[in-house]
This record gives sequence, structure tokens and C-alpha cells, in this order.
Amino acid sequence: MLTSQIKEHLINITGAENFVDSQVERLVYSYDATPDYQSMPDAVVSPRSSEEVAKILALCNEYKIPVIPRGSGTNLCAGTCPVKGGIVILFNHMNQILEIDEENLTVTCQPGVITLDLIREVEKKGLFYPPDPSSMKISTIGGNLNENSGGLRGLKYGVTRDYVLGLEVTLPNGEIVRTGGKLAKDVAGYDLTRLFIGSEGTLGIITEATLKLIPIPKTKKTMLVHYQDLEDAARSVSKIIANKVIPATLEFLDQPTLKVVEDYSRIGLPTDVKCVLLIEQDGEGHSVEKDMIKIEEICKSENAYSIQIAQTENEAEALRTARRNALSALARMKPTTILEDATVPRSEIAKMVMAINEIANKHQINICTFGHAGDGNLHPTCPTDVRDKDEMQRVENAFDEIFDKAIELGGTITGEHGVGIVKAPYLEWKLGESGVNVMKSIKDALDPNHIMNPGKMFAKDTRKRVVVSR
Ligand SMILES: Cc1cc2nc3c(=O)[nH]c(=O)nc-3n(C[C@H](O)[C@H](O)[C@H](O)COP(=O)(O)OP(=O)(O)OC[C@H]3O[C@@H](n4cnc5c(N)ncnc54)[C@H](O)[C@@H]3O)c2cc1C
Repeated sequence: MLTSQIKEHLINITGAENFVDSQVERLVYSYDATPDYQSMPDAVVSPRSSEEVAKILALCNEYKIPVIPRGSGTNLCAGTCPVKGGIVILFNHMNQILEIDEENLTVTCQPGVITLDLIREVEKKGLFYPPDPSSMKISTIGGNLNENSGGLRGLKYGVTRDYVLGLEVTLPNGEIVRTGGKLAKDVAGYDLTRLFIGSEGTLGIITEATLKLIPIPKTKKTMLVHYQDLEDAARSVSKIIANKVIPATLEFLDQPTLKVVEDYSRIGLPTDVKCVLLIEQDGEGHSVEKDMIKIEEICKSENAYSIQIAQTENEAEALRTARRNALSALARMKPTTILEDATVPRSEIAKMVMAINEIANKHQINICTFGHAGDGNLHPTCPTDVRDKDEMQRVENAFDEIFDKAIELGGTITGEHGVGIVKAPYLEWKLGESGVNVMKSIKDALDPNHIMNPGKMFAKDTRKRVVVSR
């Protein structure tokens, strides 16, 4: 609980209209998109400027009050759950696009800007901001930066990190630092910009970002390739890339996911095939045409069952939207949806998908898999019910085995959803003890009082890695 003195200080900084601490309002910010995690904050504040953020942090640092920065709360790792209480900071007033610089090809914005709004604004000027998480209609740039989010266009264009040129960050002690800038080249000192990207609100608060833009591609073509065998689809993915064709999008949906997504979106997706690949290419008209012909040839040579080419932009958009809605569609099946993002080198996709199916059968749970095949980033998703304790234990055991398998195949525990609370017990599996120790040293240096998003990233207990006899 906050003392009345601290409450008064906070109200002095933000104004009474931007401070709330009623039971109802705190309840709203006690959870995020991650199932089964909930904890009450002590108060919620909405600062209007970097200076107000700095004053809030300095105050919280002095009194050792936890601070939880929060965009739209769509993260899937319990990253904004206030496990230790404290102050939730919202960026709903810091949601301006400050400048689109057409000479330097940059956009500078505040953290609360909605991702799709930014994409649409720059597109009006013929420019392109590629990172497009499926949640982009509601996610914020601040959230994207702190999770280093990816999207459907990640294979060809990279993820959020690849578009960040400079940041303004407010440190836990209230100091404001600027990293990078509108520069194509800059090697002055450590790369502090990258340090804060993906730091999940554990090192400071991003109060402004300068992002790189590129010219918008002139044409785009979309196809849906149907397969009766997972391995054929997986081989197509590897072969397309081995043939030096990098599609803008290369997404995978298995049959259970297709059935649920079709039921949700009703756009005529095939439900009688084992899986599909959604493939898009963009660029100059002639090179898109050439790539699509090559991709079609490769898919046919790998036993594609049939190939459907979108005839209009509306048809293409319907396919993209269906893929983006996969999680929402799956979430209708059962009261709880556990979505993971085990990631492997793309050459190991087939092995990983088959291992996921075997593990699901072994533990008698239902897992649907979709994801960014071109990035090796899969989303095995389990519709379940947290009230069924026996099933939840089996789900947990199954995901332990899935992460173990991903690492065995040279992969990682999370490709884009972040560590938060959910993956913290597994972090050491990926980084090793010394890797985690380096991170702890950085945390101690920047946030010695551990006020920034406590309980995230660093687990109290590391999960024992299961060694499964296969
Ligand atoms: C339906 C659905 C689809 C999704 N699809 C994708 C996808 O395709 N790709 C993908 O990568 N993710 C996806 N996600 C996950 C999620 O949307 C992303 O992680 C997104 O970037 C989170 O944005 P947000 O604004 O909701 O941030 P939040 O969830 O509010 O916060 C995320 C993290 O950032 C921190 N944070 C937020 N703002 C700041 C700030 N200004 N300074 C410091 N720290 C801050 C928070 O403390 C937290 O740790 C999906 C989620 C859902 C529910």
C-alpha cells in the first residue's frame, strides 16, 4: 500500500486526473494477456511527458516502490503483471508521432503510439515500417520495443530491433539518457540502444524512439499452398530459402489450427489438408513475379497438394487476417489458451512440429501449431482450462519437453514473446549460468534497487531441464 505522502507526491507530479487507486481501477491492471497470472498494483498513473516519468521514477527509487511500465498489456509472458505490487505506468497520454523525416527516412514517436497507427501514418507518405505483430491493432510501440516483437514480415524485413535508430530512456534514478539518433552509422561507445530493446521494462522506461523507415514495396503477391504431409511443407520452407528466395511472409498453420481459424473467419480455408503455408512476396513487379513462379515450382516439387493464388488485394488481406486471428480463434475453444513460441533453426521445423505432436499425444493434451515457418518461430498452442489441475500439470510437463526439444535442435525458449515471469525459470537453459550473471550485473548497475518490473526475467527457481528419452 502507498502511504498518503507518496500518493500526494504522485498526484503532484501527474495531476489528480492521471492517478487512480480504487479497487476497480487497480483490478483492471492486475493482469495482462497471459493466462493464470494476476496480482494487484497499488496505483496506476498516466504521465504526460518524459519529465513526469523521470520524477515518478526518482520518487519510486527513493522509496523502493516497484514500477511496472505498461503499453496495451498484450504480452504473453505475464510481463506487466504487478507481482510485487507498486505503480503501473501507462502511456496513453504519451502517444504522439512527433516527426516523420522524409530526408532521413525516420519516424520519431512516443511509446504509447499504437503500432498500426504508426504503420498507416508512414504509409501515407509512401514509407514502410515493417514490424507487424499480429496484435498491431492494439499493441504499442513501447511494448514492441521492450519485447523486440516480430511479425509476419519478419523473415525478409527483420524484427523491431532492426528498425530502432535511437531511444530516449528514463533510468530508474530519474536521469534521462539519449542513445543513437537519426544516424545510419554510429559506433560511439557501447550499443546502448540495443541494450534497452527487449529489456521488458526491467532497465528503464523508453519515453521516445526514432525508428528507421524504408520505401514501401511497389507490388505484393500472396499464395496459400496446401499439403497433405507436414514434412513436405517443412522441406518446401528450407528449399525456398536455399534457392535464395526470401519471401516477405512464410507462415505455417497445421490442420487443427486451420479448422478453428476457418470456423472463426469463414473465408474458405481448406480444412481437409494436413497444413498450409501462407507465402507472400513483395518488391518490384517483375521480381515478385519471378520469385512467385520459383516458389510455386519448389512447392510442387515437394508434393504440394494444391496452390491457391490470391486474385485480389481483398482476398490476400483475408488470408493475412485469418493468420493474424489464429490466436483469437484458438482462444474460443476452451477457457484457457496457453500459447508458446519455441523457436528452432528453420531447417529443423519439420522435426520440431513432429516432436510437438508426439509430446501432445504422450501427455494427452491438444496442441495446435501455427507460426512463422520462415523464421523457425512456432506457436504451439494448447486450449485448456486452468481449473483442471491434473490437465494443467500435463500441459506444464509437455511444454517443458517442447522447450527442451527446441534447445536440443539449436533453438530457443522464446522467439518473440519475451521472458517475463513465464519463461524466467527456463532462461538459464538458453543462456547458461554465466549468461544470466552478465544480465544480472547489468540490472544491478542500472537498477540497483530493483524497482523496475520486479519478478520478471530473473527467476527465483530455475526449472530443472528435463532429459527425455526419445
Ligand atoms: C492476439 C495476440 C497476437 C500477438 N501476436 C504477436 C506477434 O505476431 N508477434 C509478437 O512478437 N508478439 C505478439 N503478441 C505479443 C504482444 O502483442 C507483443 O509482445 C507486443 O509487443 C506487446 O505490446 P503491448 O503494447 O501490449 O505491451 P505490454 O504487454 O503492455 O508490455 C510488454 C512489455 O514491455 C514493457 N513496456 C511497455 N512499454 C514500455 C516502455 N515505454 N518502457 C519500458 N518498458 C515498457 C512492459 O513492462 C512489458 O514488459 C501477440 C499477443 C496477442 C494477445
